[in-house]
Amino acid sequence: MKVFEYLNELEHERVIFCSNPEIGLKSIIAIHSTTLGPALGGVRMWPYRSEEEALLDVLRLSRGMTYKAATAGLNLGGGKAVIIGDPKKDKSEALFRAFGRFVDQLGGDYITAEDVGTDMEDMETILIETKWVCGVSPAHGGSGDPSPVTAYGVLQGMKAAVKLKMPDKELGDLSVAIQGLGSVGYHLAKYLRDLGSKIFGADIDPEANDIAAEELGVEIVSPDDIFDIECDIFSPCALGGVLNDDTIPRMKCKIVAGAANNQLADEKRHAEMIYKRGILYAPDFVINAGGLINVYNELIGEYNQERALRMTRGIYLNLLRIFQLAQENDMTPTEAASKAAIERIENIKKLGSRHWDKFIKR
Ligand code: NAD
Repeated sequence: MKVFEYLNELEHERVIFCSNPEIGLKSIIAIHSTTLGPALGGVRMWPYRSEEEALLDVLRLSRGMTYKAATAGLNLGGGKAVIIGDPKKDKSEALFRAFGRFVDQLGGDYITAEDVGTDMEDMETILIETKWVCGVSPAHGGSGDPSPVTAYGVLQGMKAAVKLKMPDKELGDLSVAIQGLGSVGYHLAKYLRDLGSKIFGADIDPEANDIAAEELGVEIVSPDDIFDIECDIFSPCALGGVLNDDTIPRMKCKIVAGAANNQLADEKRHAEMIYKRGILYAPDFVINAGGLINVYNELIGEYNQERALRMTRGIYLNLLRIFQLAQENDMTPTEAASKAAIERIENIKKLGSRHWDKFIKR
């Protein structure tokens, strides 16, 4: 692997390798951009098969955070960290404290949070060593579980897509198929149930299916069949890479709008494939920004959920703007969203020296 070529291509500002052999910490922090603000992004703990795989993941994910924050209009850059290890076996207080010390050394240029394989408890261990962590519990002045806010943001994005694609309809008149009935999927189903939408759902965890069916009246289908369901909106809320050569031709929906990160297996090719099928795709990093908006609200003053929800409602107008930009330029919404993100970053870069210290309160 040509590490420096890859770094130059994705244009990272800094990549920090963090090692503490006595404790067993092997971690990489990638700061992609601090033009708009500190590089905020979660720390993922995963048993990567190789160090190369971990490096590629953190480089790709940190760039994604830059685009997500930029399109959401937040004063945040993009960063991410990975810890190589099995979250089921390798977690310890010392591990997260050692990681916290590396984060602290960066003086706020990188702010960490929870991600796949890490949780609120781990963030509170990191908090012992550094103030540059968010997503801690409300008892520590944090914002707690972000998934209800993420689901609320997805709902706003769905409304925007419906306004464009089916202007004479309301979300409550439509059917939605949700893949993944975990934290975000469940809350999304609840919002949709309140509006009166018909909801199909599928999870590989039978317990999640039972809860959604019993509590919210979701009609459960098998995880293999969820792509074939005749519905108005397909909502990926499970894993990445689900929009691919196999699934896109099968979809019988008018809109794809869901929370999962990196939904397109190949960002360019599969966005075009969906576009050519006449399906409106809400770019994942725009529609799922509610969780990031939620933690951002911890940084700009005392956390206030009302303010976080209010900002999250902005996803509606934000997506309409991106759909419009896509139409005007005859490009996919994903390309339009990237274009909008790059333009904002380039414009703010012209302001010159770092200006963001005044709105991050820590
Ligand atoms: P979660 O782990 O609580 O839920 C995911 C659910 O998907 C689980 O119940 C799992 O069993 C199910 N699942 C996995 N593979 C499946 C498959 N093939 N078919 C059907 N179900 C499957 O995670 P979450 O917090 O709800 O997040 C969902 C997605 O949204 C993830 O991709 C996450 O990265 C993304 N996301 C979450 C947030 C947030 O605030 N939690 C914010 C932004 C993005």
